[in-house]
Amino acid sequence: MWRWLMLVGILAVTGGSCGAEEGTAAGILSRGTSAATPWFVVEGKEPGPLVVISGGVHGDEPAGARAAEQVRHWKIQKGRLLVLPRANVTALAAGKRKIPGENRDLNRSFPKAGEQGMAEGTIAESIWEWLQAQRPDWVIDLHEGYDFHGRQPASVGSSIIEAGGSEVEAMVPLMLEAVNAEIVDPQRKFQHLHPPVNGSLARAAAAHLGCHAMILETTTRDQALSLRVRQHRTMLKVLLEELGMLATDAPDYPRPREGAFAVALFDDAGASGSGPQQVEATLSKVQGAEVWRVGGDDVRDGALAGFDLVVFPGGSASRQAEALGEGGREKVRTFVREGGGYAGICAGAYLAATNYSWSLGISNHRTFCEMREVPGQGEKSMWYRGPSSTVEMELTEEGRKMMGNISGELGVRYHNGPIMSPAGESDLPEFRVLARFRSEVSHYAVQEGTMEGTPAILATECGRGRVVCISPHPESTPEWRPMMARSLSWAGRQDG
Ligand SMILES: [Zn+2]
Repeated sequence: MWRWLMLVGILAVTGGSCGAEEGTAAGILSRGTSAATPWFVVEGKEPGPLVVISGGVHGDEPAGARAAEQVRHWKIQKGRLLVLPRANVTALAAGKRKIPGENRDLNRSFPKAGEQGMAEGTIAESIWEWLQAQRPDWVIDLHEGYDFHGRQPASVGSSIIEAGGSEVEAMVPLMLEAVNAEIVDPQRKFQHLHPPVNGSLARAAAAHLGCHAMILETTTRDQALSLRVRQHRTMLKVLLEELGMLATDAPDYPRPREGAFAVALFDDAGASGSGPQQVEATLSKVQGAEVWRVGGDDVRDGALAGFDLVVFPGGSASRQAEALGEGGREKVRTFVREGGGYAGICAGAYLAATNYSWSLGISNHRTFCEMREVPGQGEKSMWYRGPSSTVEMELTEEGRKMMGNISGELGVRYHNGPIMSPAGESDLPEFRVLARFRSEVSHYAVQEGTMEGTPAILATECGRGRVVCISPHPESTPEWRPMMARSLSWAGRQDG
């Protein structure tokens, strides 16, 4: 019994990504405290500049932390890259700007320019001590503003704020040109600002350590996290290319850690509010899972090549298809045919179907969505069944084998998920049913009797890839997340 408990304890510690990361980290700042956070080194073969990239100084600005986490997987040919992805881990966990319990803004806590002061607070002290010991040439701190500076000058969102002389001043326009090339709206374009606020890490690095320093600011407002992360990557790529550290043909979307269960989660247009977070919560307990968000541009650039599974969450399938474009949709099809996994939840299950001009046609099902005459209301599309509600679902024998031995009817959230039936396409295998609806919701009388008994969850193959389509939202209910995670693991071939 004791041995078993110890084993569980060890698995719990090493199961999360932090445990796995500590093995590859070059060091830990604030070791032994709740603020403990790893930093990483990427070495080039030849001598060159030392560049420090930090993210997550403000806990409510997740794009910087995620971009830094990706950039630490880049391969450089010259110099050294030091990456501190999550400078302020407790604030990131809380999703708050300030350090929880201290009411202190970490990016106002570094030694002020023109003063002989010290860093204030234990987290700033440990970061500053580390930075002083490294003596970097460049310090790039990744942040996010709440609005576009080009539209709302009170915010520094979508800007590069620099300090540290003519070399850094000359670098900024090159980075701006690259990131702005993908932005259509003039008000959303990145701007060149100077200097960083006093007390910030970048300002302190320029003033006290003589570094070339920048704050890169994306904008949280109305923009998918994957786009903001992409913008950070785009700017960093130009910097490292210009410094001769990164080969110009280096892919900017690297594969997550070797051996990880690498999951790409679509969060672009058509992915609804909390859907991506709930998928992340579902996968957070899966050992070795690393979830990186992707948008349409990333998919078109070939980002999926490094992943085991792509997940399309709830929202609007037609908008997701539009964000992918025909080029992106073909990338998804090719990814699956060549062995990648696909999980579609609600909208994602519509997207996988065969019966729309924009659907992927990777699962041999069609959806009940045609126009029907509703007495007194005219022609109505049958996909709409009303607001979010709870329906009953029951796993089949095959579903219990894959997703856990749960018998009886389970209440799951349902919000206009597809009513799926065989499409009879000759070039696709027939799907297997993992769960069936045992009750139904309807908005129009003509929908009555069309849902109960139909597949709630189905599994199939397309080429060498596995596909799972889930009509309701088990990921919304914490109790059903382990079951849901097993279906995602199956699609991503994590079942041995
Ligand atoms: Zn910030």
